[in-house]
Amino acid sequence: MNRSQNLKLLDKTPEWDVVVIGGGASGLGIATDAANRGLKTLLLEKTDFAKGTSSRSTKLVHGGVRYLQNGDVSLVLEALRERGIMRKNAPHLVRDLSFIIPSYDWWSSPFYGLGLKVYDMMAGKLGLGPSTLLDKDETISLIPNVKKEGLRGGVIYHDGQFDDARMAISLALTANNEGATLINYAEVVSFIKENDLIKGVEFKDLINGKKKSIFSKSVVNATGVFSDKLICLDQPKTKPLIRPSQGVHIVLEKKFLDGPQAIMVPHTSDGRVLFAVPWNDYVVVGTTDTPIDQTLEEPIALEEEIQFIINNAGMYMSKKPNRTDIKSVFAGLRPLAASEGNKDNTKEISRHHKITVSTSGLINVLGGKWTTYRKIAEDTINTVFMVSGLSERKCNTETLPIFGFDPTTNWNDPLHFYGTEAKKVESLYLKGNKSLSDKLYITKNQICWAIKSEMAMTLEDVLARRTRCLFLDAYETEKIAPKVAEIMAIELKKEKKWIIQELKNFNLILKNYQL
Ligand SMILES: Cc1cc2nc3c(=O)[nH]c(=O)nc-3n(C[C@H](O)[C@H](O)[C@H](O)COP(=O)(O)OP(=O)(O)OC[C@H]3O[C@@H](n4cnc5c(N)ncnc54)[C@H](O)[C@@H]3O)c2cc1C
Repeated sequence: MNRSQNLKLLDKTPEWDVVVIGGGASGLGIATDAANRGLKTLLLEKTDFAKGTSSRSTKLVHGGVRYLQNGDVSLVLEALRERGIMRKNAPHLVRDLSFIIPSYDWWSSPFYGLGLKVYDMMAGKLGLGPSTLLDKDETISLIPNVKKEGLRGGVIYHDGQFDDARMAISLALTANNEGATLINYAEVVSFIKENDLIKGVEFKDLINGKKKSIFSKSVVNATGVFSDKLICLDQPKTKPLIRPSQGVHIVLEKKFLDGPQAIMVPHTSDGRVLFAVPWNDYVVVGTTDTPIDQTLEEPIALEEEIQFIINNAGMYMSKKPNRTDIKSVFAGLRPLAASEGNKDNTKEISRHHKITVSTSGLINVLGGKWTTYRKIAEDTINTVFMVSGLSERKCNTETLPIFGFDPTTNWNDPLHFYGTEAKKVESLYLKGNKSLSDKLYITKNQICWAIKSEMAMTLEDVLARRTRCLFLDAYETEKIAPKVAEIMAIELKKEKKWIIQELKNFNLILKNYQL
């Protein structure tokens, strides 16, 4: 996957079958499916793959216990099926995780236990394991630092966990392998039309500032919370179709959640659920659901969201976290499809995806979840065939292995998410396997691999998405950033002034992840 080679391919292709705008979960899934079905596919991403919502999730591959509570049975059924498919096709990226709901009154264990039995049943053959009731001692042995005062027992159930940005990079590599052409730092700025029908797009290469026209039989808008902006570029008077809702996570040291299990709080003070999930020697705690009007590339966590998470998590932990314990904080925007009108109560808007086609032929993908990215892609490419008149071909992604597929993955290996590529990363440079930090795992080989094989262009690409340093510990990341920039500069043959500029850009973003 090489950016400059991919740019050269543009001149050799007078017309594409499909241009996908947006390189998040939806866009990358769509590009993979399109290329796999034999379509000449180009994906254009404004910044970096998964820079938007798709690197800022709770990192769960789940049916969504909460949606069952809301009565959204069809969404849960679809997501549980996709959970099983994702686990099967990407065993190096998705793992089974046990979640415990601690209970402090007589009714909650039997109540949630019954609901979770329904959840298990709905997963059918693709289930990850049965849920069971726990007594007080069992609950404490599984989560030693759960708050013990008033504890009566708990329920344990199973869902999937993944690294969202690494999944996105592996999907980009899968799409590339299937024959798609992907370009990051390529912002679509206008549509090319003939007789009011879309015939292509114009994009700006944000690395060299040049604009380029691309012709295509179909164009898909998969830009998440930015969808309305592109819809208005096409049809200026369209009413907003997306209701953005912000979700914040805080990251704590592992000592706040001893043991390999996650905690699920089924009813927070605002009637949602809250998760505390172990992730790479840290714990991710979240999230919130705050309606937001401004769609920023780098959303900002609100003070009340941080306080809400600390307070609600603290009720279940024997050692309550406070602000100074937070190693990183990140915010993401849900691109909710606002069919029910512009509800302020975003937690009640369905997470189902929707596909619309404008009168000029623009195919818009709205809403959805990471877990259902494959189904979103399947439905979108089926629509592409209808709109473009291309002869239809069957979807095969249910059994398509994700790049690096390795069923023998050792989850204790810090390079496990590369799957079969891990050995190549390790053998890149002889002395390149020592971590640059005692707290975070990041090596020279990973940095150089990200540049050579994963289209990383900036310091932020390496620290935020090719490795997850920024999301795990923003303070430690600040310390190692100059060294990482130096290694990148040598690999990219850049001068000192490149390092200075990269550090300046990165430090501006870094402040968002620190309190
Ligand atoms: C807090 C939070 C927690 C979540 N947790 C989970 C979870 O645990 N499990 C789960 O399944 N789902 C979860 N989700 C939902 C999931 O993350 C999203 O549904 C999914 O990531 C959306 O992907 P997307 O591709 O639609 O959008 P994005 O990831 O935002 O991708 C859109 C891309 O389009 C690009 N773009 C925008 N404009 C242009 C342009 N003009 N030209 C080119 N490119 C452009 C953007 O840069 C961006 O990269 C969560 C969401 C949030 C906010």
